[in-house]
Amino acid sequence: MDWLTKARWHSEQLAKRTFHRQLRLGVTGLSGAGKTALLTAIVHQLTQSNATQLPFFSVMQQRWLGARIDDNQLPQLPRFAFEKNLSYLQQQPARWPPSTVRWSQLTLTLRYRPGSGLRARFQEHQETELVLVDYPGEWLLDLPMLQQSYQEWCEQSWSLFAQPHRAATAESFRQRLQAIDLNDTSVLFVQELCAEYSHLLQQFRDLAGAYLNQPGRLLVPGEFAGTPLLQLLPLLPEQLVQGGALVDLMQKHFISYQTQVIEPFYRQYFSGLDRQVVLVDILGALNAGESALLELKQSLLLILQSFDYGPEHWLRRIFKPRISKVLFAASKADHVTPDQHQALTLLLQQLLLQHLQSVKFQLCPYEVMAIAAIKASEAGFVKQNGVQQACLRGFSAETAEALTYYPGDVPRYWPDHQLFSAHQFEFQQLSPLPWPKQQLLQHIRLDHLLEYLLGDKLT
Ligand code: GDP
Repeated sequence: MDWLTKARWHSEQLAKRTFHRQLRLGVTGLSGAGKTALLTAIVHQLTQSNATQLPFFSVMQQRWLGARIDDNQLPQLPRFAFEKNLSYLQQQPARWPPSTVRWSQLTLTLRYRPGSGLRARFQEHQETELVLVDYPGEWLLDLPMLQQSYQEWCEQSWSLFAQPHRAATAESFRQRLQAIDLNDTSVLFVQELCAEYSHLLQQFRDLAGAYLNQPGRLLVPGEFAGTPLLQLLPLLPEQLVQGGALVDLMQKHFISYQTQVIEPFYRQYFSGLDRQVVLVDILGALNAGESALLELKQSLLLILQSFDYGPEHWLRRIFKPRISKVLFAASKADHVTPDQHQALTLLLQQLLLQHLQSVKFQLCPYEVMAIAAIKASEAGFVKQNGVQQACLRGFSAETAEALTYYPGDVPRYWPDHQLFSAHQFEFQQLSPLPWPKQQLLQHIRLDHLLEYLLGDKLT
C-alpha cells in the first residue's frame, strides 16, 4: 500500500472515530484464558444471532438489522482467523481452535435502527464499525518493566524463581548462569543463552500456575519473532555486582526492549482501544493450587496497571489513554454448575478488589462477570439418595468419554492455606459439544458482556 492510500485510510479511520462510528474492542488475557474462543463466539453471535440468543443485548430487541464482516482494513494487520476457528468447532469430533499468539483483528459493520432522538425519527438505520482486537495478555505483563532498572528486574525475577512452585524448574538454569564467563558477548553464546532462558520461560508456562513470565515477548513474540530485540535475560543479581561485558550488553538490551518493544506497543496499538475485556481463568488457577492463585493475583496487579488512568499516572507520558470501560470476565463458567457462577464472580472480584481499593489505583469504569464464550457442557440435575443434585454433562477433553458429574464448589471467599491443604480442586477441561449445522453456538452471559461493552454506543 503506497503512502497516499495509507494516509487516506488513516484519515478515514479518524473521521469515523470522530463521529463515534468506530469502536475498538480489545480482548486479552494470559495464554489459555479463552481469547480465541471468545472472539470467535462474538463474531459468530453478532453475524448470526437474533434476539432470542442474546436477550440482554438491548440493541437486539427490535432495533437490530444485522452485522457483517468488513474486510476493508489495512492488509498488513493480521486478520483474526474467524472462519478457520469456526471450522475446528465444526469438525467431528469438535475441537477447540488454536490459541492466540499475536495481535490480530477483525472488523464488523453493525447495522441497527437508532433508538431515540431525532435520528430515530429521520434516519432509517445507523452503522457502527466494530473493530475486534485479539492480543496476548503476556504483553501487558511487560508494562511494569518500563519503570524498572535492569538490576531491579533481575532481582525481582530471581526472587520469583525462588518460589516453591518454580525453584526446581529454575535450578539448572541458575547453575548454568553461575558457570558462564561474564565477559563473553560472542553472538552465538548470547543467542544460545537467551534461547535457554526462553526455554525456561516455556517450562514455567507449562508448569501449572506460573503466570508471571517476563519478558512476555519471549513467550509470545508476535512481530518480533527472531529479532535481536528479544535477546534478553535476567542475570543473577550477584553477577551484576561482579560486572562484565555481558552485564553491560544485557543492560543495553533491557533499555532497547523498553523503548523499542514495550513503548511502541502502547503507543501504536494499545492506545487505539476504546473498550477492553480481560479474561481470567480462575478455575484453572484453583486447579493448580495456592501458589498459582497467588501468582495469578500478582499478574492481575501488573495487568491492571495498564488501565490505571489517574491524572498523574506515568503511563500518560507514553500515550493518551482512551479505554472507557473494562470488563474482567472469569472464563469457562460452563466448567461449573450454574449455582456456582455467583461464587466465581465473587472470587474474581476479590482477586481484583484488594488492588482496586488501594488509593493508588484510579481504574476506568469496570465490571466483573462469569462467562462461557462457547458452552461445552449441559447443566442439569440427577437424583441422588432421593435428593436433586446439580450436575454437568459433557465430554472429557482428555479421554473424550461422555461425563455426567458434579464438578465441585467454587470458594466464595479467598481460599486460605488450610483449604488448599485439605482440598484439591478438579474442574475438568471439556471438549466442545458436537455442533449441529444451522444451529447457533451456546454461551453463558455473552449478551451481558456485549451489553456492558457496546450497549451504550449502539443507541
Ligand atoms: P487463548 O490462549 O486465550 O486464546 O485461549 P483459547 O481461546 O485458545 O482457549 C484455551 C482453551 O480453553 C481452549 O482450548 C479450551 O479448552 C478452553 N476454553 C476456552 N473458552 C472456553 C469456554 O467458553 N468453555 C470451555 N469449556 N472451555 C473453553
